[in-house]
Amino acid sequence: MVASGSNEVLAKLYAANTPNTFWQLLVEPRVSQAEWADAIQVAASILPRNDRCNSVDADHTISMVLGEELFGPKRWQLSWSSRLYYQLKPLLPRPLRILLRQLYRRQQEVHFALGWPVEDRYVRFQFNCVTNVLRQRELDSVPYVNLWPNGHRFALVLTHDVESELGLASVQYIADLEERLGFRSVFNFVPERYPIDHDLLSALRQRGFEIGVHGLNHDSKLFSSWQLFEQKAIKINRYLHVWEASGFRAPYMHRNPKWLQALNVEYDLSFFDTDPYEPMPGGTMSIWPFSLGSFVELPYTLTQDHTLMTILGARTPRLWLDKVDFIERWHGMALVNTHPDYLREPSYLAIYEEFLTTMKERKNYWHALPRNLAHWWRQRAHFQPQWHDGQWDLSSLPGATISHFSAMEIY
Ligand SMILES: [Zn+2]
Repeated sequence: MVASGSNEVLAKLYAANTPNTFWQLLVEPRVSQAEWADAIQVAASILPRNDRCNSVDADHTISMVLGEELFGPKRWQLSWSSRLYYQLKPLLPRPLRILLRQLYRRQQEVHFALGWPVEDRYVRFQFNCVTNVLRQRELDSVPYVNLWPNGHRFALVLTHDVESELGLASVQYIADLEERLGFRSVFNFVPERYPIDHDLLSALRQRGFEIGVHGLNHDSKLFSSWQLFEQKAIKINRYLHVWEASGFRAPYMHRNPKWLQALNVEYDLSFFDTDPYEPMPGGTMSIWPFSLGSFVELPYTLTQDHTLMTILGARTPRLWLDKVDFIERWHGMALVNTHPDYLREPSYLAIYEEFLTTMKERKNYWHALPRNLAHWWRQRAHFQPQWHDGQWDLSSLPGATISHFSAMEIY
């Protein structure tokens, strides 16, 4: 696929996500760009494509996937039906809103181009790339810098968006529950929608939780024009600074990779691997973080609580735990977004608590705050392993360990 015009600009935002930086293979001589290009060319046959992206160009394969090009040139705009819904939403009683979402659900599922809740094609693509390198080099296995620090198999990140004053009142309770079970999370607050309790923010920080920014006033208009976004970004940056926050999530997962570059963030949380139920359905297909221009993107990979509990009517965390199994298998990042507003409902809270207690029993993952995880991912991507006296020196990347990739592992 030949990218052109604004696609070219967008592709640049994703350019740092090469298989070389992703895998950090420990092999001499290093895998050349030409070798990777060949490997990508072969592996790309597994990726979904349509008439917009129907031929393979190694340089753009990854940016095409992460940039959600499958969903067309208008993928960062709301459809007319979504715009109408958001205009009417404040006038509709909550039960009617839920009914509409449930009715609309079927249509969203039928027209969705990705797998859900598991979309494995980009995941397999990444592993197939290394398999192809092994084949070219006639090797059975290859060492690489483990994707997560201290030899962990996968990662777990807990995030919360605090939508309203009702949610704000539940923050303490959720933090207590998580702390009791040994977890920490980020709470993303809306700066200009409800009064912010700065004592609560600093108490959370002291207990090891993180504070993030969730939009500006949560009015669904943040991305309605670049001019408006640019003005609001100035205010958002001020809150990021005052709150000592490093991360942002857009309300309703409205997102625009280019515009988001105006924010002074270490990481963003507004994208996801696959989700047919959002106002802008789509997905980056990535169960790992990735570099997005100036920041690291941490896509959510577990279904949002509202979708799981209200739209799909789940009564257990089974869907989340099954996805964690998939993520564990492929060394990914389990990132979940739950809302203190919805967890006020005891049956919803029980599902979240069951999820946490089940995860507490599992030992082989790195539980990290998003800030620390984004930092690790950035450091690892920039890491230049050195070959000294017959061995690899990983000492300049604290936590780095060596894992072995075997082609057998992926089947
Ligand atoms: Zn929100």
